[in-house]
Amino acid sequence: MRITFLGAAGEVTGSCFLLENNKKYLVDCGIFQGKSENENEAPFPFDPKDISGVILTHAHLDHSGRIPKLVKEGFKGKIYATYPTIELCEILWLDTVKLMKEEVERINRKNLRSGKPLIEPLYTEKEVEMAMKLFEPVPYDEMLDLNDIKVRFRDSAHILGASSLELWGDNTKIVFSGDVGPQNNVMEGTPSIIEGADYVVIESTYGDRLHKSLEDTRKEFESVILEAVNSGGKILIPSFVVDRAQRVIYEIMLLSYKYPFLTKIPIFFDSPMGKKVTEVYERHSNLLSGEIQKYFLEGISPFQLKNLRFLSTPDESKSINDLDMGIIIAGSGMCTGGRILHHLKHNLWKENTHLIFVGYQAEGTLGRRIVDGEKKVHVMGEEITVRAKIHTINGFSAHADQKDLLTWTDNFQSDPTFIIVHGEPKASQTLGQLLQLKGRKTIIPTYAQTLDLEKKEIITPKVTPKIDVYSLISDLENYIAKFKSQPIPQDMDTYSLLNSALILLKEIDKRSTNI
Ligand SMILES: [Zn+2]
Repeated sequence: MRITFLGAAGEVTGSCFLLENNKKYLVDCGIFQGKSENENEAPFPFDPKDISGVILTHAHLDHSGRIPKLVKEGFKGKIYATYPTIELCEILWLDTVKLMKEEVERINRKNLRSGKPLIEPLYTEKEVEMAMKLFEPVPYDEMLDLNDIKVRFRDSAHILGASSLELWGDNTKIVFSGDVGPQNNVMEGTPSIIEGADYVVIESTYGDRLHKSLEDTRKEFESVILEAVNSGGKILIPSFVVDRAQRVIYEIMLLSYKYPFLTKIPIFFDSPMGKKVTEVYERHSNLLSGEIQKYFLEGISPFQLKNLRFLSTPDESKSINDLDMGIIIAGSGMCTGGRILHHLKHNLWKENTHLIFVGYQAEGTLGRRIVDGEKKVHVMGEEITVRAKIHTINGFSAHADQKDLLTWTDNFQSDPTFIIVHGEPKASQTLGQLLQLKGRKTIIPTYAQTLDLEKKEIITPKVTPKIDVYSLISDLENYIAKFKSQPIPQDMDTYSLLNSALILLKEIDKRSTNI
């Protein structure tokens, strides 16, 4: 088996790995963003017709966004992915088509005037439609046999449906981390434990950084929201529409329990994709963390609040321009486009506006310029003075930080070689050094580098052990009884978590006896 790194090597975008066993496969086929954006136009360095299948870790565009282009250029194989990934891909790809169409029309108007040749979008709705037909849904934890290779998708707790991959071929086992979530991801729980591999291709987005703790992040969010609400102006939250926006809504719900007056503040999720993405999260809530599932089991969606309205059309979005106060969650997360722009244009110059960043702001983006303290910025072709109060909350990441990545690698009981990808050079190198200190072998591949994967040890796929739900329930009931009988003041958070676990287990028990 051999692997060639055709993206996410020395950078965080454009994930694409060519795997050759008897047949050829791609693991992910994402778009390049930021400085490498122009590479999306370049032809693939292989013939798409020769690829038997794409194995897709998750829906984020930097992992999935070039698949319709692959189809346009002749790919006819299958695309393997989890159910939520398939549903999210359709929403994200169609949104991309719309944005690309608008951008191409704008450029072509200029090109016509200057006599330059007209350009075409990377792909259109037609290719998205064709790609959707090639999907083959794969459940988590089941063995997928493609004759020359076997693949198992494991929950990576990054966004809904995101997976790490265990892949066997030629007596060699390679694991792809995909994007890994934090060890305690509020939305998706804990990444699956994988214990054996010959090679592990691991992401390193935050290989050189630590996130704030959940407790500190929630305290920070609470004080910012209270300060902003008290000032009486609009609160703008630029956010990724998949996962981050739902998380923000959930965090606001938690705050509303503590401060009931927050239920009187109008909240808007302003995005053409917002409602559809949230529905995918609700439909597959069984894959989310216990903390989130607890609400669904009680009949409450933590992504729907009485005072929350989804705004889909541009007219609905404009209708809130004259409103004095309210919380507006809108894409894009880094203010590079989307509905957030017109809200910034109308509110950034007002002193009582609060702008809360809940995600990473890459260099060169409008979000980053505002975070860096620029006093005048260009928004939709107009110069706007920044008078709004700016806040940044950095703890909501859906990516593992350095500590989480090391914990994830500690699960490997075999002695694999870690192939470090999906990170800026400094992040990948730092993670590599830390792994070497732990006695691990590491490689940081460069773009287009090929590695021959040699058989090291035979690892037979393990069957996931059956869980004895009944004995877990009785153990937990005993534990809760002991916990309640303690005379000292009890930790109510732990107590309510234990109770949630019990509710979940009983629900699992009920469902499994119904089958
Ligand atoms: Zn991702």
